[in-house]
Amino acid sequence: MTDAGAGDAAPEGRRLLLPLIGAVGAGKGTQAELLSRELGLAHLASGNLFRQALRDGTPLGEQARAYMERGDLVPDDVTIAMFTEELAKPAAAHGAVLDGFPRTAAQAEALDAVLGRQGERIATAVYIDVPTHELVERVSGRWVCPDCGTPYHIRSGPPAEAGICDKDGARLTQRDDDRPDVVRARLEKQVPPMLEVVEHYRRAGVLAHLDGDRPIDEVGQEILELLRR
Ligand code: AMP
Repeated sequence: MTDAGAGDAAPEGRRLLLPLIGAVGAGKGTQAELLSRELGLAHLASGNLFRQALRDGTPLGEQARAYMERGDLVPDDVTIAMFTEELAKPAAAHGAVLDGFPRTAAQAEALDAVLGRQGERIATAVYIDVPTHELVERVSGRWVCPDCGTPYHIRSGPPAEAGICDKDGARLTQRDDDRPDVVRARLEKQVPPMLEVVEHYRRAGVLAHLDGDRPIDEVGQEILELLRR
């Protein structure tokens, strides 16, 4: 299901800048980890970068703080400035997997403009498409031991005894924002702007639209193959 000729995923002499697009639970972060390791690219995860800036107390962190605390998107200009800076760092010299950015059509347009001024462009953007009911099931199946932090999943990695940690016998808990109703609400907010980003890259003829309703490894292999083609 690829629209992109991924043969020019990293045109000669240019670094590979690969946006991964997907909703919460689509496996985007996991794929970004895997791809950045396999391909020797920086992994630029917007949420992590913002959280780091908050911890470090940088001016960027201060600008982002109020928005993050409310669970709102940080304004586009702040977000774009952060990524422009990250992309100019030596760590991204060979390229980067963009995880969580662009998250709005305006961010995608601004990224095109920044890259265009440097003679660069996005040659492939990967959309990991997972049906909403499956996303809700994946995220709301996550439980964690409050004492030792061991994660479990009702379907893919349940504890031996329901609701009890295998390691220390503590009663497992669920993060508030992993509850099914909260996950649905998060998706309702997240999906429309995400689909605008997908549409942006589809129109540009660089979208690789992948079926993400499959095991993580399979999706990862498909991404690697389409980049090698
Ligand atoms: P995440 O870890 O991806 O859920 O991101 C945590 C928070 O960082 C979000 O709730 C937003 O406040 C902010 N954030 C992450 N990515 C972006 C982005 N591309 N644009 C604006 N805000 C973002």
